[in-house]
Amino acid sequence: MENGNPAGRKGRAAIANALYWVLFLGFLLSFISSRNALSMALASDRIVDAAGMTIALASYSIVQLPPTGRLTYGYHRFESLSSVLLIMAFILLLIYTVIISTPEIYSSRIHSPLYTIYSSALSLLLLPMIALLLHGDENLTTKTMSVHTLQDIFTTALALGGSLILIFYPSGFVLFLFAIVIVIVSIVMNWGVLTRNIRLLMEGTDLNTVEIESSLKQKFPMVHHLHIWDVCKHYRIATVHVYAANNASLLELEPMRREIDDYLIKYGVNHLTLQFEPSQWMKH
Ligand SMILES: [Zn+2]
Ligand SMILES: [Zn+2]
Ligand SMILES: [Zn+2]
Repeated sequence: MENGNPAGRKGRAAIANALYWVLFLGFLLSFISSRNALSMALASDRIVDAAGMTIALASYSIVQLPPTGRLTYGYHRFESLSSVLLIMAFILLLIYTVIISTPEIYSSRIHSPLYTIYSSALSLLLLPMIALLLHGDENLTTKTMSVHTLQDIFTTALALGGSLILIFYPSGFVLFLFAIVIVIVSIVMNWGVLTRNIRLLMEGTDLNTVEIESSLKQKFPMVHHLHIWDVCKHYRIATVHVYAANNASLLELEPMRREIDDYLIKYGVNHLTLQFEPSQWMKH
């Protein structure tokens, strides 16, 4: 096997990606044919998977593009930007699922669960193949997706179970209940991705900056206003202010600057802007 070969890994990720698009189309067609909300709930999840994988594959080459005068970080925010848009689309699709499944409670004729059974069966057949294709990959996105595939098997099994119940016991309320449960389970399972993207929009970071600043202050009490944020997984940016003696020279300050830089590198900060300030302005 070519497990260690990057080209082989990328090829397998591309096949897994194509299979995710097949699964999305399966649930989309199933929804269009039957208007069954269960298919819509699963189509929402599968488009996030398929589009997410495609963006991850495309971003390998897009982040290689050189920076420009207007985009000084190059295209590194592309992956973050598209994952934020994707999460927004995911939320809208889930809201749409809730909207179309609510009238089912009172309707006497329920939408046929037959197509949901077909697409769920196809999904349960292809998902283990996707998991196998992505297994052992070192790339963070593919790793996440390989774990996510197991969650997908769970939501698909829920949809299949619900559809089978509806075949024998056609009830609008049961259909509504299963659709809502799948929406809630999807949100819970994607919670990590959701909060990470919201943090990203808030210019945040996964680190505890308060802790880092206070431990820096133990060594250098003049440190203040530390900010850390991530442009992407390659660029972790920090800015920090440091009060210095009014007559200190750049050469005298250099060891301190280097020590603060080295300390932050341990936290993955690879782009630090450090500002020295005269201590007579020790106000803010
Ligand atoms: Zn990057
Ligand atoms: Zn999924
Ligand atoms: Zn300052």
